[in-house]
Amino acid sequence: NMASPALLMRVVASAYSVAEKAATIVRNVMSAGDLGIVEKAGPNDLQTKADRLVQMSICASLARKFPKVTIIGEEELPTDDVTEDLIEDGHCEEILKKPCPAQYTGIKEEELVIWVDPLDGTKEYTEGLLDHVTVLIGIAYGGKAIAGVINQPYYNYEAGANAVLGRTIWGVLGMGAFGFQLTEAPAGKHIIVTTRSHSSALVNECITALNPDHVIRVGGAGNKIIQLIEGKASAYVFASPGCKKWDTCAPEAILHAVGGKITDIRGNSFQYNKEVKHMNSAGVLATLRNYDYYASRIPNTVKESLVP
Ligand code: AMP
Ligand code: MG
Ligand code: MG
Repeated sequence: NMASPALLMRVVASAYSVAEKAATIVRNVMSAGDLGIVEKAGPNDLQTKADRLVQMSICASLARKFPKVTIIGEEELPTDDVTEDLIEDGHCEEILKKPCPAQYTGIKEEELVIWVDPLDGTKEYTEGLLDHVTVLIGIAYGGKAIAGVINQPYYNYEAGANAVLGRTIWGVLGMGAFGFQLTEAPAGKHIIVTTRSHSSALVNECITALNPDHVIRVGGAGNKIIQLIEGKASAYVFASPGCKKWDTCAPEAILHAVGGKITDIRGNSFQYNKEVKHMNSAGVLATLRNYDYYASRIPNTVKESLVP
């Protein structure tokens, strides 16, 4: 008679299934053709019907199972009109079978904070750059990102009709990360991945100072972390405010679970307790390997321009 699985593993196992349901909603809204685009702060800060439905789905599904967990989602929405068809009550059996890292076995519901980005890369979604899009569910404990799920609804969409569309990457600190092939970027090459739709003079000044061999400009914080863990890029550099805690929580947990590092541009780690400011005002610097190489080359003028 086995003891019931630790809360953290039950949350991750549920988040996995909830993220798969989310991916189905993302694809269905796109194929139905009516994105229902709303501008939030401006034309580069959009919300679609998919952002709204997915957030309702994720938050209501997780809240129903884990009522005492704090769940913080990107979108400001009324909470009362979640229809039953949006609820996912399944979980991933594979994840439930894995042992919880010892330091997390005693966690209680009220100690967890879940950061939800229902659709990361909305701008790119509206422009048809579908593989930039991810669904992010990050799990924090004691102010630290300790587990995360990243679903990429359109993974493989350029591989043709027979390819399996979409994938789910997940990870827990002290356990590792799964659902992808960990790959290092080419040795000795400096390939920077950065924003596509939120550039600025400072963003570009910072990248130029790193003297990169190549710069990849793509949407989404989740997507850029995937570029790091699959060896497509050696550093994610974003010297600007704009990224929020729901953009970095799940990516951080997965990156840290495989030995990478993410901080702001000044080298400060991110905090994910429920009271924290949402904005990552001092930007993002992330690598799978060789963090110090990039951190040591960020100009002081750039650091001083970004106030945490
Ligand atoms: P990007 O790399 O531009 O796709 O940005 C990563 C995440 O941060 C996305 O969720 C963006 O919406 C968000 N973000 C970055 N910069 C801004 C900005 N200037 N205004 C609004 N959201 C931003
Ligand atoms: Mg986002
Ligand atoms: Mg979003």
